[in-house]
Amino acid sequence: MQTKAPVSLGLAGLGKIARDEHIPSIGRTGGFVLDATASRNASLEGVAAYSGLEQMLAGEPDIAAVALCTPPQVRFAMAQAALAAGKHVLLEKPPGVTLSEVHELERLALNAGVTLYATWHSRHAACVDTARRWLDGRTITGGQITWKEDVTHWHPGQDWIWEPGGMGVFDPGINALSILTEVLPCSVRLVRSRLEVPANRSQPIAAQLRFETTAGAPIEADFDWRQKGEQIWTIRIETDAGIVTLSEGGARIAFAGDPGLPFEDDGASEYDRIYRRFAGLIEKGASDVDLAPFRHVADAYMLADVTSVAAFEE
Ligand code: NAP
Repeated sequence: MQTKAPVSLGLAGLGKIARDEHIPSIGRTGGFVLDATASRNASLEGVAAYSGLEQMLAGEPDIAAVALCTPPQVRFAMAQAALAAGKHVLLEKPPGVTLSEVHELERLALNAGVTLYATWHSRHAACVDTARRWLDGRTITGGQITWKEDVTHWHPGQDWIWEPGGMGVFDPGINALSILTEVLPCSVRLVRSRLEVPANRSQPIAAQLRFETTAGAPIEADFDWRQKGEQIWTIRIETDAGIVTLSEGGARIAFAGDPGLPFEDDGASEYDRIYRRFAGLIEKGASDVDLAPFRHVADAYMLADVTSVAAFEE
């Protein structure tokens, strides 16, 4: 049997997520070969290095796909250039800085006949699919999301995260919303948003949100970047027949009430699953751009009751 050749990939933005997750997963999953990088400051041994995306596209015409691991503020221009060059494009989360620009990318990808994949890595955490299957067909009666982490530990020196489009605490918070919108068997809408914005910054350091299902069941979310000590990434969903709790960002699951479902961890990382899915989408000629988590964050800004809080200094 003939084995399929891996897809030639270029990667832009050699920052934390590229080094921690993308590069190891590209090496492990087999569907791709990393042939070039675009970075203003860095390079990888043995991989063709370019100082920017345009230079990489010009210098490596045989690359078929591009992974964009830069901050969201520069993603649209890069994605537009890559799509115009006929490349399949993988977007880190969040997929952009406005809904309109991501809709525009969808249109460009469709016209170019290439794959656009807006990734939500937390949806690929080990227990998320088990929670989705368990919740299927149940009636949601309530829920709480607690997403509390120390920004100084997880995002040191990342100035872009505090600038417009960086989203502040929604940078991690959107991960919780990506899981929520994946596992719930019904839709929710935002009904209240309180944002705490440091006096010296433009983006929130904390957010308290309330969502409701169409039937009126409340789901409260508490995002906070000032957490010291234990870091908490938990989603608890109550139903008419038991409770499911995802913790550690979806890596663990617990059930109360009705029996739970067993789950088997194949040992793949979130990003291994992302690259498998990207390869599958390219093979099928499909795109995957689910904007539900991004829409809820946009709603949180629109409905915001903003409070100014103590200045944040790193
Ligand atoms: P980061 O460490 O700041 O790296 C981003 C890289 O993008 C920079 O190192 C830089 O690489 C490049 N870049 C290009 N234009 C830039 C600009 N105008 N400002 C700053 N950097 C620019 O950020 P990150 O943590 O990797 O996050 C990147 C994206 O991945 C974000 O959307 C984030 O939400 C997402 N993400 C991050 C994590 C995480 O744990 N950190 C987890 C999941 C998803 P060069 O110097 O090589 O050009």
